[in-house]
Amino acid sequence: MSGDWVQDTTRAALPRFARVAIEFINGSRLVLVDSRALGTFELHPAGEMPELGLGPDAADANWSAEQLSAALALRRAPIKNALLDQRLVAGLGNIYVAESLWRARIDPRAASNSLSRAQVRALRTAISTVLKRATGARYTDDAAAQLDVYDRAGQPCRRCKTSIERMVQAGRGTYYCPSCQK
Ligand SMILES: [Zn+2]
Repeated sequence: MSGDWVQDTTRAALPRFARVAIEFINGSRLVLVDSRALGTFELHPAGEMPELGLGPDAADANWSAEQLSAALALRRAPIKNALLDQRLVAGLGNIYVAESLWRARIDPRAASNSLSRAQVRALRTAISTVLKRATGARYTDDAAAQLDVYDRAGQPCRRCKTSIERMVQAGRGTYYCPSCQK
């Protein structure tokens, strides 16, 4: 969920925040640079399929609102926390979850199993839209890509002009519009 792979050579100084360096016999090197140290790296024997315990890929077009609905029905945790759980759905981080919930007009604190069918359908559509927007350019790196809610505390909601608020859920910052995410 964090970090970048950098390709350089074994002669170069290791980048700051290098966490993993894989050196090849031709002198090239792959380095995992992860300033927040939130990533994990595992080695598995060739041919072994690691059991990652991941849920469906959020970017998979075949992942349906019905599947999401069934998974949420089993959980009472706030929807924000559920969507960050990679066992429920894989590939959503803090920014994409905030943007998706804003787009679907869902309160991040809502119990997962309290969402209506219509809300889950809206959420599934919102996740697709957010991921499509993000593809090819990371939201956070691309000045042209506008975040709707994430990191906008105190700024007006792009839909209703209410001030965006920030709270903390499970140790992570949550940004939401108190007016149109109910
Ligand atoms: Zn709003």
